Amino acid sequence: MGWAIALHGGAGDIPLSLAAERRQPREAALRHCLKVGVNALKAQKSPLDVVELVVRELENNPHYNAGRGSVLTREGTIEMEASIMDGNTKRCGAVSGLTTVVNPISLARLVMEKTPHIYLAFDGAERFAREQGIETVDSSHFITQENIERLKQAKEANRVQIDYTQPIQKDEKKETPTANGDSQIGTVGCVAVDSHGNLASATSTGGLVNKMVGRIGDTPIIGAGTYANNLCAVSATGKGEAIMRGTVARDVAALMEFKGLSLKEAAAYVVEECVPRGNVGLVAVSAKGEVTMAYNTTGMFRACATEDGYSEIAIWPSVQN
Ligand code: ASP
Repeated sequence: MGWAIALHGGAGDIPLSLAAERRQPREAALRHCLKVGVNALKAQKSPLDVVELVVRELENNPHYNAGRGSVLTREGTIEMEASIMDGNTKRCGAVSGLTTVVNPISLARLVMEKTPHIYLAFDGAERFAREQGIETVDSSHFITQENIERLKQAKEANRVQIDYTQPIQKDEKKETPTANGDSQIGTVGCVAVDSHGNLASATSTGGLVNKMVGRIGDTPIIGAGTYANNLCAVSATGKGEAIMRGTVARDVAALMEFKGLSLKEAAAYVVEECVPRGNVGLVAVSAKGEVTMAYNTTGMFRACATEDGYSEIAIWPSVQN
């Protein structure tokens, strides 16, 4: 038994031809955030503090679809969402429809800690943010030029899509995914376990490009995008509607609890058997300090480390997979 941490920056149809200027800043962010998380675990911070800290870092990075960098709704607005869960107590918090909160994950934690509820959304969540004095800014802070371009392209193609890795260049169109036009990248998440087996999970997103105003995905839904109990902690990414139908995060825990599967087996079963191909990825850790990062998409921005010295930062399938 030892500590372990895993994080993701979204799963999707990530072209192998992804330009270096798009890939490198994301890889650098994964490396940086992994280091932040590992140092926090080594400094005996609680897994709940660790996952919040790491997700805040990712939210502050404009290259990922969460916090600053969130993708745009059909109306060119942002609606951010996030959730967090503590494995031992099963306490959890979730938020949706945020337009001004710099770190949605921290507001989700405040919902968990300061209210009798689990989930606040839209005006009520924004009002709660102000009551709590959490940092807020004008919505324009979150909107990047890239996301304005992504929305334009999604509208031209008349589709709702998961964050394009890069605005499509005209001559790249053929290469860029897929039958239904989805390319999924950018939602962020982190799971952590300390050397006493305490577990926590956190996930944060801007959702889907060109989503309807008011659409809520899997990220703030406990049991779908985020789950933790005393066996494991899971954070999912991909097409929210598929993840909700598959109750992805909870099913990993349920397979361990009711069927006695290992973390790796449970995650592989859910990703390979329970959700349509090309839709989902997840990172998970177990109370025993195991880690797994499974996806049925082309790739997933991901990173992990365990106390026994294993570490990985990757986007596409690696030799170990
Ligand atoms: N799961 C997110 C959503 O559907 C998107 C993603 O993971 O990239 O809102």
